[in-house]
Amino acid sequence: MFLQPLQYDEPLFRPPGEARSAILQVTTGCSWNKCAFCEMYTSKQFKIKSFEELKPEIKILADFYRGVSKKVFLADGDAFVLPAKRLIPVLEEIRSRFGRLQRISSYAMPKDILSKSDDELKELRELGLKLLYIGIESGDDELLKLVNKGETFDSTVEGIRRAHNSAIDTSIIIINGLGGRLFSEQHALGSAKIISRVNPRFLSTLTLSLPYGLEHFQSRFKGEYIQQTIVELYKELKVFIENLDVENVIYRSNHVSNNLVLEGTLSKDNPRLLKQIDEAIQITPGHIKPSLPLFL
Ligand code: SF4
Repeated sequence: MFLQPLQYDEPLFRPPGEARSAILQVTTGCSWNKCAFCEMYTSKQFKIKSFEELKPEIKILADFYRGVSKKVFLADGDAFVLPAKRLIPVLEEIRSRFGRLQRISSYAMPKDILSKSDDELKELRELGLKLLYIGIESGDDELLKLVNKGETFDSTVEGIRRAHNSAIDTSIIIINGLGGRLFSEQHALGSAKIISRVNPRFLSTLTLSLPYGLEHFQSRFKGEYIQQTIVELYKELKVFIENLDVENVIYRSNHVSNNLVLEGTLSKDNPRLLKQIDEAIQITPGHIKPSLPLFL
């Protein structure tokens, strides 16, 4: 296992693209912590760390990663919930300790972006905050309510646009299978619509994971949830990709939860990606349901 320079409040999550980044836990847990499909931070009480706590940690990270990494990821769940006036000194300290950085990034909810002014977003960008990972999960308002996401199609589009207008890139996550069989088509179409509207720099699809089992998720889902087979999940993904209208979006479906690994640039690679999905549909027995990975 990779040696960590700090004692983190576990469990600690970071996007696959931040595997080599220095991770600074500016918050623990998630301020929302209510999404029906997410168990990442249910064991943690949300807390914001003080600047005094973070300062020595930034120094340790800068010393440890000197010459190794030029990227810093702010954890946990939605570190961007911090008001700009608390984030700015943290970013300034990171810059002063690390020197020239490639980027600083963080998970964010659209409401975290909307709570900041354009001037604040631009200042954060100038201090190195170049990428926000946003788990929008779906573009369908009915499904967003059923999983208690706390965001809507409109709030999500507005939040992402505000980030883009301040030159902050976004990496968007959609969850394949989030609505089960009953909501599959509207989920795929709504998600394609919202991605087409915002045209993010990066897009990834995960597959719904059920670490505590199907019944537990069904008890949190505010409607009827019927689990899909793997073939049905592939078909949902196909509808999603077929209906995208985007340019130069770097797409990855390579998370541990995914049964089929897909990588490409949308829309240039759409024909190849759709062909890969068709081939997977043909060779996968129709009755098999996804296994249950331990983590989302
Ligand atoms: S999906 Fe994101 S916003 Fe929702 S509970 Fe999990 S960490 Fe929080």
